[in-house]
Formats: sequence, structure tokens, C-alpha cells
Amino acid sequence: MFDPSQCDLCGDCFVKCFYIDYDRKKARREMAALIAGERAEILSQCFTCIACNEYCPNGANPFDRISELQDKYQTLDIPEFKEDLYCGIYYMPNVIEKGNPDKPVMSLCCMSWEAHDFNSENDDILKDYNGIWKLGPEKTIFEGQMFEGITKVRGGKYFCVTGMMHIGRDIGSNGRLAPHVRRLVDSLSKLGKDEIIIAHDDGYAMLKAKVPEFGIELPFKPVHILEYIRDYLKGHLHRVCKLHKKIAYQRPCSSRYIPGIDLVLDEIFDIIGVNRVARKYDRENAICCDGSDAQYSQMERIKSLQEKNVLDALKHGAEAMIFLCPMCYATLGPKAQKKGMSPIFVSDLCRMALGEKPFPA
Ligand code: SF4
Ligand code: SF4
Repeated sequence: MFDPSQCDLCGDCFVKCFYIDYDRKKARREMAALIAGERAEILSQCFTCIACNEYCPNGANPFDRISELQDKYQTLDIPEFKEDLYCGIYYMPNVIEKGNPDKPVMSLCCMSWEAHDFNSENDDILKDYNGIWKLGPEKTIFEGQMFEGITKVRGGKYFCVTGMMHIGRDIGSNGRLAPHVRRLVDSLSKLGKDEIIIAHDDGYAMLKAKVPEFGIELPFKPVHILEYIRDYLKGHLHRVCKLHKKIAYQRPCSSRYIPGIDLVLDEIFDIIGVNRVARKYDRENAICCDGSDAQYSQMERIKSLQEKNVLDALKHGAEAMIFLCPMCYATLGPKAQKKGMSPIFVSDLCRMALGEKPFPA
């Protein structure tokens, strides 16, 4: 949540932004306009990467203000079919794959591997996508010994809505998506577990960083997928065979809300023996995969940013590009592949260290 009392109008947030070219004077002016609730220029230029929340030295969360006003003034150029497609996620079928009742439950949010039959109004959208709307890499990313016996839930009522900020929707407690956030919490609470593994970074960011702003106390502890994997690996070190590979990591935008999770990932990489190359576009300087849709009309610019991102990984000797978000995987994965770097979901990389899959040649 934006906290104007923490903002001293230093301008760091927008001076550091990769997507705009503001000097400090202009950055301060834009911030002042946001505080005043005006339709500032930044609202239509922002790529919704959330980075400025992390750039702000005072924890004022400027992106949350941008998001709120983007929604209020409808400043993003989102084609109607894209908007409908996102909204269609609410109607995805809800699936519970029952496992061993003594084992944990994992929420896959809206990750899915089938073509979905949304409501009939969305027929045209399905045609645009050749009838296929898949929201996950290969299903095997959550199979194998680490996930044996786990109950998996997914579908519309487990959709965390975090990604909706990429189409200019306010995901905060005063925004119009608040009822959906409450539905998510309700759906997860009804599973009756003390802990729930959250497979998507977006979902964990929502539950840990945003839901407290709603004044909701969760009756369960959300466990990030990386925390679960790290603890599993620590308990099964005798099975881990270090991979000795150089990899590049594509950090999801949602991690800006939960920066500590990056350190958990470093622990995992250390356990499985991979070297996260120190490239330009990682950690605080990560750039959005640009599957975000926020600036749909700037497709050429988006493509050039994606190219820069992938080439940066290649230049630093990465043999594979590692993903935590299925949207990043879908957007950047094929581009990494074309440059000779295998796109690998982080859980699959760990399965490779457990000897369940070969590291791609
Ligand atoms: S969210 Fe990203 S693109 Fe938007 S102003 Fe902040 S840093 Fe720039
Ligand atoms: S939001 Fe933070 S970084 Fe931006 S002007 Fe205010 S204090 Fe500075």
C-alpha cells in the first residue's frame, strides 16, 4: 500500500526506472502529481514491473499508487480481448487432485495444462488462441519424489489476481478486485490445513504482502514453493548430485513484494551446485518478461527489451534460463531456447539435481 507519509519526493523511484527517461526534477514532479491523485503522465508510461517499490529507499511503495490511479483513470492501452482473457481466469474449472491426506496441500493458483472452455462469451478469445489457453510449463514440474502424495488444487477460485495489475487493475484492499482476494483466502482456508504450499510467486506475494492490508488474518501459513523445495532438499542431501552449471535467472515482478524469497533461491542454487550468473538484469535490476500486456501498443520496444534480457544471460555464459513464473516461462522461454539456452522451471532444475531428469544437452 502506498504510504505518502514516507515519501520525501527524492525521485529515486522514477530516475531508476528502466522504462522511462526522467531526470530528477521530472521524477519529483510526477511523484507529487501522484500524491495529489492527478492523472500523471507516468500512469500511461509505466510497464507495471513493480520495481520502483523496491527502488524506493523509504518503503513508500510508489507502484501501488500508480496501480491504483491506472485503474481509476484507465490509462493503460489494453486490448479488450486481453482484458477478457484475464477475467476469464475467474471461470476456470476448479480441480482438486487428491493426494495422501497426511501430506501437504499445494495451490497451483490458475496454473493449468489443459485447454480451457471458459464461458461461452469468451468464444472468440479462445479462437484467437487456437482454442488453447495453457497457464503452465510442462505438468512434470510438480511431479517426482518432492511432490509425491501432495494434494494439488487449482482453478478460478484459487486465482490470486496479482497478475491483474499488469492490465492496470488495482489489486489493493480498496480496489475492485478485493472480493476476488477474499474469495481466494476463503477457498484456501476451506482446505483446512495449517500450512499451504503456494506454487506461484504471485500467489505468495498476494498472501504475504497484500492480504494483511485487507485486515485479514490468515488461518493457515503460506509456504512459498521455494521454501518447500529448499527444505525438501536439505532433508534429502544424500540424494542431491550437484549440477555444476551456469544459469541465468528470470526474476518475476511479484518478487518485488517479497524480496526475501530471492535469498531462499540462492540457498537452493547453492545446494544443487548451480552458479547464478551475475548479469545486469537480475536481482534489483531484473526486468519484466514483458508478457505483462501493460504496454501492448509498444510491441517493438517490448521485443527489444526481451532481446536485451536474453542476450545479457547469454553474454554471461548461462547454459540455461531458470523460471519461477509460468508467464515468464511462456514469454521468454522460447526466446532463450532460440539462443541456445534451455528454459527450465526451477522445480524441474531441482529434479535434475535429484537424478530424476537429465540436464538438457
Ligand atoms: S512499476 Fe516499473 S515501469 Fe512502472 S514506474 Fe515503477 S519501475 Fe517504472
Ligand atoms: S516514492 Fe520513494 S523513491 Fe519515490 S519519490 Fe517518494 S521517497 Fe523517493
